[in-house]
Amino acid sequence: MLESSHIPAPGDIQKFFQVFNIDLQKVYLPSFRLQNGLYYGLIRTGDGKKLGVIGEKEALLKDPFSGKILNHSPSLKLCDLFLENTLVLMELFPFTRPVSVLSFPATIGTGDRLGLATPGHLRSVRKFSARPVLAQQSIRENNQTGRNFKEVIADAAWSVFQENYQNGYGADGDHLKSLDEVALALDAGVSMITLDLSEKLNFEALSMPSEVIQRKFKEEIDPGDATVLLHLFLDKEFTFRGSRGDLSIRFSEEEVRRNVLLFDQAIDFSEEVYQLIMKRTNQKPLIDFEISIDEIPFPTPPETHLFLMIVLRHRGVRIDSLAPRFIGEFQKGIDYRGDVQTFKKQFYHHVLIAGHYGNYKLSIHSGSDKFSIFPHVGEIAEGKVHLKTAGTSWLEAVRLISLKDPSLYREMHQKALSSFGEATKHYHVTTDLSSIPSIGSLSDLELPCFLDQENSRQLLHITYGFLLRSDLREWMFSTLIQYEEDYTSLLEKHIDKHLNSLGIERRKSE
Ligand SMILES: [Zn+2]
Repeated sequence: MLESSHIPAPGDIQKFFQVFNIDLQKVYLPSFRLQNGLYYGLIRTGDGKKLGVIGEKEALLKDPFSGKILNHSPSLKLCDLFLENTLVLMELFPFTRPVSVLSFPATIGTGDRLGLATPGHLRSVRKFSARPVLAQQSIRENNQTGRNFKEVIADAAWSVFQENYQNGYGADGDHLKSLDEVALALDAGVSMITLDLSEKLNFEALSMPSEVIQRKFKEEIDPGDATVLLHLFLDKEFTFRGSRGDLSIRFSEEEVRRNVLLFDQAIDFSEEVYQLIMKRTNQKPLIDFEISIDEIPFPTPPETHLFLMIVLRHRGVRIDSLAPRFIGEFQKGIDYRGDVQTFKKQFYHHVLIAGHYGNYKLSIHSGSDKFSIFPHVGEIAEGKVHLKTAGTSWLEAVRLISLKDPSLYREMHQKALSSFGEATKHYHVTTDLSSIPSIGSLSDLELPCFLDQENSRQLLHITYGFLLRSDLREWMFSTLIQYEEDYTSLLEKHIDKHLNSLGIERRKSE
């Protein structure tokens, strides 16, 4: 047992490590804690971030983390943050494990493409009455960054430990499109599945002439199912009452047929995935389930939302959040584009439906920087909303680099320009490259302006994968690590701005 006289006081931790000659660069004070007679905490050495375990040698030998023991009195075990040790961390400190958080009213998906942004996200979120989904990556993002779900969750878990955040966080397998992808994410330990239905929708159904709809419905839909489906909708008026006015929806026979053909495969698929999740949930903690149709070619009218939810409920599928494609444009990293009044009206109708059909939340994707609509979103949804951001934490990293290492920024900027054409294959943006000033004409002090202009923000936003896979990678990471605290405070401010704008209440104290 470690005697209390042996535990270095917070002010003495730095001194304590001196005897070990380990090239100590930083001590993450909030992470230090006593557990089972040993003292645990994170430090950074010249060799990277490590977990330090302090105690008598005998006890260190029995401790489940693997690492190298340096003898002294007390001794120190230095442990790498690799996967095996991450599992031990989650076992020993359960608050580092992802959990279902979506039932909490306000949730924000922050995502961390670099594995360096989470501490900044936590410092913001912990001040508000909100819960974070810290790990939030799609397969597309993982391919761009060269990571996998397990690594993404591990990075989040160590950051949670580093910041001593004990309120619970989520891990979202974002935009999953197949049963295999869902299984992969569940195996890695996610606490949330976002199922993207876009590839299962039959968009042709929206433009087919009436006779074709009639015929296809007859040919493709099982007669028993067809009767039930028509019965669910016909001769009914769906009325929703709310403080900002009522909503009433009726479906014609043709509308029902059209929607059935549109969603037929998507609904079977949702049910299949839901059952897989339910099977897992029997053995493990709850999994949050989101359905996303935000990446489809048309905005989702409230009628379509209602249709989908009625059929899903009929099939016994319950969701925690739905990401419709809202009216207007939600481009990456810039403010909302569109008519705010029309958005408000439709958003309210979506909120009414969600409140009546399972009390799930609306999930806003590409949610960063939509400051012209945030106050309305917060107000109309009464703070009950899930906001997904991620890419702008990358932009804050680029901002930091533009402030601290102009020559690196210049190289990144050139590389972004040369990869832009290729990057637009993955992202929908309306960037006008010709309106971005030539970097050669700007002084070092002027470089951060690129992070404040829409066109250059988008340029830097969508080319992240190219930059992260380029020969600038090491240089970028070492700069971000060197200015870790500055990066953390930029992010804290950035997320604060989002939560404040949504009108999320501040907590009185931790
Ligand atoms: Zn999305």
